[in-house]
Amino acid sequence: MPVAPEGRTTLSVVVPMYDEEAALPALVARLRPALDGAGVSYEVVAVDDGSADRTAELLEKERTGWPELRVVRLRSNAGHQAALTAGLHAAVGGYVASIDADLQDPPEKIPEMLELARAEGLDIVYGVRSDRSTDTGFKRRTAGAYYWLMRRLVGKRVTAQAGDFRLLSRVAVEALKALPTDQQQVYRLLVPWLGFPSGQVTYQREERVAGSSKYSLGKMVRLAVESVTTFSAAPLRLATWLGVASFVLCLLMVVWSIGVHLAGSTVPGWTSLFVAVLFLGSVQLICVGLLGEYVGRIYTAVQRRPTYFVASDSAREDGVPEAGP
Ligand code: UDP
Ligand code: MG
Repeated sequence: MPVAPEGRTTLSVVVPMYDEEAALPALVARLRPALDGAGVSYEVVAVDDGSADRTAELLEKERTGWPELRVVRLRSNAGHQAALTAGLHAAVGGYVASIDADLQDPPEKIPEMLELARAEGLDIVYGVRSDRSTDTGFKRRTAGAYYWLMRRLVGKRVTAQAGDFRLLSRVAVEALKALPTDQQQVYRLLVPWLGFPSGQVTYQREERVAGSSKYSLGKMVRLAVESVTTFSAAPLRLATWLGVASFVLCLLMVVWSIGVHLAGSTVPGWTSLFVAVLFLGSVQLICVGLLGEYVGRIYTAVQRRPTYFVASDSAREDGVPEAGP
C-alpha cells in the first residue's frame, strides 16, 4: 500500500465541527496546551462541516495566533463520518488522532495515546470510555444497543464503548484511505476490522462543554443502518429465515385445512384466509425492503459519488476550491 511521505509533522489531530461556536473557545483552551506540552511537531486539522453559525469565523480568528491550526472547510454539511474522512485525507502527520469538538473526550489523553503507540509499536490506540454516566439515559441505552448489535454482526474485535476518539498510525490511515470512499463511512467498525496491532487508553466521558448534540435522532438511525449494511449480510439471512418460517406455517395451515375439509365440516374460511394473506404480504414486504436496502448500497457504490466537497484548506494558501476524492 502506498505510504505518504511522513514529512516533519509527527502528529495530526482531526476535529470535525458542525455548529460548534459555543464549544470552540473551550476546546482551544484545552487542546492547545495539551498538544504544546507533548513535545512533538503537530497540526490540528479542524474540519468545518458546513457550519451555519460563527464556527468558521472563530476558527479563522484562532488561526492567526495558533500556526499549528489548519482549517479545512467543507462546502456543505456532509456528516460526522464524512468530515472525519475529509480530515484523514488532509492530515499529513505520522500519527493521526481524531477527537470530537465538544470536549467529551479529554484532549490530554492524546499525548498518552501517542506515547503508547510509539513505545509498543501500535497502529491503533482506542480511547475507551470507562463510564458514560454523564450521557443521557436515552443516549446510553441506544449506544448500548448499537454496540451489542455491532459486536454480534461484525465480531468481537469491535470494542464496546470506543467511539471516534482514537489514534492511528500513518500505515493505518493509508489503509483506510485506500478503501473506496463510500466504504469509509463507519470508522468505529472499519478500524477494528483492519485488525492491526492495537492498544487502548481508558478515560472518563465528560459532559458536552457547550452547545447541544449535533447528532439528531435521524443521524443516529442513519449511522446504525449504515453500520449494519456496510458490514453484514445478516439482515438478508433474516429475510430467508422469515421466508422459511412462513413457509412452514403455511404448510401447517394447508394440512389443517385439508383435515377440516375431510372431516366434512364447512370451513368458514375468511379468518384463516385473511390471516394468511396478511402474514405472507408482510413477510414479502419485509424481504423486499431488505433487498432494497442492499441494492441501494450497490447503486450508491456504483455511482462513486464523493461523500464531501472541500471548499478551502488553509494549508493551501491560494484556497482554490477542490473536489473531494
Ligand atoms: N459533527 C459533524 N457533523 C455532523 C454532526 C456532528 O462534524 O453532521 C461533529 C460535532 O461537531 C462533534 C462530533 O461530530 O465534534 C460529535 O458530535 P456530537 O458531540 O454532537 O455527538 P454526540 O456526542 O452527541 O454523540
Ligand atoms: Mg458529543
